[in-house]
Amino acid sequence: MTQDPNPNPRLLEGKTGVILGVANKRSIAWGCARSLADAGMRLAFTYAGERLESAVKKLSEECEGSICLPCDVTKKEEIEDTFAAIGEEFGGLDSLVHAIAYAKREELQGDFFNTSKEGYMIAHEVSAYSLTAVTRAALPLMEDREGSIVTLSYIGAERVVPNYNVMGIAKAALEASVRYLANDVGPRGIRVNAISAGPIRTLSAAGIRDFNSILDQIAEKSPLRRNVTAEEVGDACLFLVGPHSRGITGTTLHVDGGYHMMGV
Ligand code: NAD
Repeated sequence: MTQDPNPNPRLLEGKTGVILGVANKRSIAWGCARSLADAGMRLAFTYAGERLESAVKKLSEECEGSICLPCDVTKKEEIEDTFAAIGEEFGGLDSLVHAIAYAKREELQGDFFNTSKEGYMIAHEVSAYSLTAVTRAALPLMEDREGSIVTLSYIGAERVVPNYNVMGIAKAALEASVRYLANDVGPRGIRVNAISAGPIRTLSAAGIRDFNSILDQIAEKSPLRRNVTAEEVGDACLFLVGPHSRGITGTTLHVDGGYHMMGV
């Protein structure tokens, strides 16, 4: 008999969350949004740039009671406005899912030592620093709510993955940020965790050179002998957002079919 991964389907009824990082249906953020919305959570979706506005708005309409707001994390005022609008609409926040990253395409190939200063800075600003910026903005809305913050990382933070380059350094900074933020906000009852997801074919992943060979390697070598899906990452996100993980903070949970612990 197959186990029902979600035995209490309305676990998050009456709760609210914000999801940063939906670009399309392939986005890991969309997998997270589906799991949280199916569990009854009311969601605020954010998008970066007008180019994505109509696509994200259309997707958000699939999740009952959701709202959709602009939030380019490189723009301080946009972060402030977005969280002010969420406060007005929802009255508070129970969760924040940070599923965004960016590096220039030319930085995701060749030798890491050729990384430009500008490429290094932009990758870190969008992919790592933004977690701290949005956590700070969300904190006033999470007071007395035992909020949960979840971000998305990758094994390239811990090990050398060819062509991942500056993004691996940014993800290492992101995972360290999770630990420092968890320590800061833990006394307020707020938790911060990361999911280190296995490779999934998304818009961002398309920018990494030889991504197909990474997928093939996981399918061949991971204990589960297959790649994971955005839905599986979404269900792990539901666990980290929901009450079943209430004793867990500052950790990085691998959702990668077990690949991270293999020696080959
Ligand atoms: P995606 O392209 O669907 O999502 C990336 C998102 O980042 C997009 O929605 C994009 O608009 C957003 N973004 C980029 N710059 C931004 C900015 N300045 N402000 C706000 N948002 C911005 O790709 P994805 O693979 O779903 O990526 C989501 C997260 O998952 C990223 O952190 C990524 O590193 C991580 N991740 C992806 C994989 C994978 O193999 N796809 C594996 C592990 C972790």
